[in-house]
Amino acid sequence: MSPYNVCEPRSAYIMIPKPFRQNFNFTLPTRRQGWRWVLPVLLVLLFLSTLLWLPWQTQRMESSERQEQLIADTLWVEQTIRFQLGRHEENLRLIANEIASGYGAEKRLRDRLVTMVRANGELVRIVQFNAQGAPVMSSDDMSIRLQELPANSLATAERARKSKTPLYAQPAALPDLATPVTLDYHVPLYSGDTYAGMLTASYSISSILSEMVPWWFAQDNEILLTDQDDTVIDRRAAGGPGRNVYTHRRALDLPGVSLTLRTNSVKGEPKLLPSLLVGSVIALSLGLLWSLGALWRDINRRLAAEGALRQQVAFRTAMENSLMTGLRARDLTGRITYVNPSFCRMVGIPAEELIGKAPPMPYWAPEAMNEYNQRFTQVLAGTVTPQFETIFLRANGERFPVLIFESPLVDDSGKQTGWMGSILDISDRKQAEDLNRRQQEKLQASARLATMGEIASTLAHELNQPLAAISSYTTGALNMIEKNAENPGKLNLDLLKPALEKAGTQAQRAGQIIRSVHTFVKRREPSREPTTVAMLIDNVMPLIELQARQFFVSVRTEIDEDLPPVLADRVLLEQVLLNLTRNAIEAMQGIAPERRILRIVARRVAARTTDEPGSGQNVEIAVIDNGHGIPAEVAERLFSPFFSTKAEGMGMGLNICRTAVEFHGGKLIHSDNPEGGTIFRFTLPMLAEGMPVDGDSAIIRET
Ligand code: ADP
Repeated sequence: MSPYNVCEPRSAYIMIPKPFRQNFNFTLPTRRQGWRWVLPVLLVLLFLSTLLWLPWQTQRMESSERQEQLIADTLWVEQTIRFQLGRHEENLRLIANEIASGYGAEKRLRDRLVTMVRANGELVRIVQFNAQGAPVMSSDDMSIRLQELPANSLATAERARKSKTPLYAQPAALPDLATPVTLDYHVPLYSGDTYAGMLTASYSISSILSEMVPWWFAQDNEILLTDQDDTVIDRRAAGGPGRNVYTHRRALDLPGVSLTLRTNSVKGEPKLLPSLLVGSVIALSLGLLWSLGALWRDINRRLAAEGALRQQVAFRTAMENSLMTGLRARDLTGRITYVNPSFCRMVGIPAEELIGKAPPMPYWAPEAMNEYNQRFTQVLAGTVTPQFETIFLRANGERFPVLIFESPLVDDSGKQTGWMGSILDISDRKQAEDLNRRQQEKLQASARLATMGEIASTLAHELNQPLAAISSYTTGALNMIEKNAENPGKLNLDLLKPALEKAGTQAQRAGQIIRSVHTFVKRREPSREPTTVAMLIDNVMPLIELQARQFFVSVRTEIDEDLPPVLADRVLLEQVLLNLTRNAIEAMQGIAPERRILRIVARRVAARTTDEPGSGQNVEIAVIDNGHGIPAEVAERLFSPFFSTKAEGMGMGLNICRTAVEFHGGKLIHSDNPEGGTIFRFTLPMLAEGMPVDGDSAIIRET
């Protein structure tokens, strides 16, 4: 019986991991997991939109800032031009007043005009015309008449004269930029109500822009002066043409003329990533997003691993709980580190009381303490017996046999951390074994009785012979004694003694037959003891001969002389011999009487396998007949219980023989006899020194 038989039928419950796993509802809480991500996702979306909106907003702000700046600067330039022109207007009006009133000396006035022209680059010349338009005084040497001025300017002068107010003349549009364009300012001179002439100041339009507009503004902007028809009168583009992104126009309203100052910045749209700062913020944000993503992935992986782990733990716990085998782990010092529920059930002690316990353990039976300690010393030395039987003590004092399998407990790195023991409660198995043995014995006893039934009649007949002989010898002796009584002194002791001796021998022979029958039939425990093969055969010979005589078979024994003693159960082996010889005798019923020879051969042989006990030498006993032999179909079922080819056969003989031989550690085999018939042979171990001779050594008990 396998040591696992005890729990084999139940192992089906624990060896179905897949469906079992499905039964456990340890799936992840997906609803909760879904909600958990909503907030981070929203935050990330918000963050991303802010990230995109921020540079766009910055760009817009910068753009409008630039536009505002341009407007402010244009305004400032316009103001500057207006202020400068206003200052000149003022001066010219003063000079005109002086001329009209006639106070100023001509020379001094001319000097003032010259100084004014020199000090202000935008002024080209200042000329005083008389009422007829002839030049009276000029800031330079050029002498031109009022009428020689361009028609536009002349018309304005006329309007100024009529309206008595100083007026600017519309500058002529540029035929080409090379030709200098002038802006004439006409101040009519009146002495009282009498027109006395005209003071005309000519500005160089190009100088207005170059002199009055500061360089830094000109560097950043293209500046245009246009008339009311948007015709360009002058352009200054020191920093290159404008980009038409930031533009502004400002009316430069002067008396008599309306000009427009247009500015067009050379700067383009601000870039979306204008600064290193924004760039680094974006890089950092992208890094942040990446790490968020990585974190997300990592958390998901962890959650999955956690779920799988939980499933594993649940599965293992369930498996542990349903195991029928007790599990016990110990560290290298022998302290208990783990016990499963089955082990706790077995010993009747809760896990909390067992874990951390060092020897002596509460489940150790006091009577086996020495063996436990011996084993514990082995554990400390790092060697254990991989499999052994012992007894454990339940909390209620009950003892129970256990089969223990020990193996090293190794961690991930391959280092041994302790010992793992699987413990099987083999009480049931032991009971089954006992029952089996008892039944076997009963069967053997019944077989013996059956054998005896068969030979009972022969026995009665055979006993008749010695009893008849005894009877006749004793009758003869009695007769002699009676004759002696009639004729005293005539007793022939020489005749009486042998008769009595023969009677005694016959009585012994009868007694031996009866004894052998008695010991054979008696039911008893098997026990092995040293004996010789010769003695075995001698003991059983009377019974063999009884049967042999019945079938006219002659029995021959060939026993090697120097055969050593063997360790055997005499009665069992006698039964084996009796069965084999009986089968042999019966097999020879159908052959010629002269060939009916039964041979019993005992000799020394080498052990067949190293498993067989003894020191490599065995004694082999062969029962050889010349009978009908064994056909192949019979050979197949020869040892099956209740298999027989005989009408009254029980079919148990060979089965019992094989069990008995195997009990002795040998094997019962059969082969064809080359001379016809069959040979049955089996081996017996030779008695080696120090071999146990107790009666129950079939199972080597280890504790
Ligand atoms: P039984 O003798 O009651 O039939 P056994 O188990 O002793 O039961 O034998 C089983 C069968 O084996 C026999 O019926 C017989 O056919 C066969 N058998 C046993 N020994 C021999 C033999 N020496 N020669 C031929 N047949 C044999």
